[in-house]
Amino acid sequence: GISRINEPKEPLELRELSGAFNQLLHQLEEHVEREKGFIANASHELRTPLTAFRGHINLLKRWGKKDEYVLEQSLQALGEESDRMERITHQMLTLAQHENNVLKAERVNITKILHLLVEKYKEGTSLQINLEKDEDLELMGDEEQLRQVFVILLDNALRYTKEGRVSVKAYQKDNDLTISISDTGVGIPEGEQGEIFNRFYRVDRNRSRETGGTGLGLSIAKAIVEKHRGMIRIESKSGEGSTFIVVLPVKD
Ligand code: ADP
Repeated sequence: GISRINEPKEPLELRELSGAFNQLLHQLEEHVEREKGFIANASHELRTPLTAFRGHINLLKRWGKKDEYVLEQSLQALGEESDRMERITHQMLTLAQHENNVLKAERVNITKILHLLVEKYKEGTSLQINLEKDEDLELMGDEEQLRQVFVILLDNALRYTKEGRVSVKAYQKDNDLTISISDTGVGIPEGEQGEIFNRFYRVDRNRSRETGGTGLGLSIAKAIVEKHRGMIRIESKSGEGSTFIVVLPVKD
């Protein structure tokens, strides 16, 4: 953030003022650039299913009455593309909410959230999921939103892992809760690790698309973690797996 500056009385203060002003301008420019990029990306993402709609509607117009195979295939594809469009718009809304909204400040038991999530995810996968945790890790925050962070990270860990296991660890050291989610999946090339938290960024478009990805999950997770004054980062080796690490302060 930018600190407030009082009315200048000396040249030094004037210099400080212009420094702060330039910093503000710079941040504003960056912000505008990011928003422009977001709109361009969002339009592109929405245009992809729209193009598919148009293609299948044309096919249906031409062949739909005579050819049952075309009819079936196109209806199926139209269904999938509208699901996809719904996911994208839903996630865009979620992201907008998280970037703006205020947080609830309630007592949140992180251990409990992780325990319940891991139990739930175990049912839907053949991968092994381990949970190693300190008991009753608590902080003040927004329970629903923090839960969503771990949903996003666990979803990803399972979607980008074919075999092996997912390990979740949670512990407290001094004022920080550290939660790590590791997988033995495809990993992320070093050169792209700095990008994956950006909105709509995907390492492998096709893979993400196949598994229902929108490229917005991690940017939502990051927005939530940062609102809680925390940090999220990744350690990964391409082909070996990834670890996402979330650090949340217990008190400000
Ligand atoms: P998506 O909906 O595409 O998964 P995310 O924002 O959640 O979008 O993730 C961005 C990209 O980061 C993904 O497309 C994927 O390439 C990569 N990624 C995220 N999590 C993992 C993971 N656990 N293992 C490997 N790659 C991952």
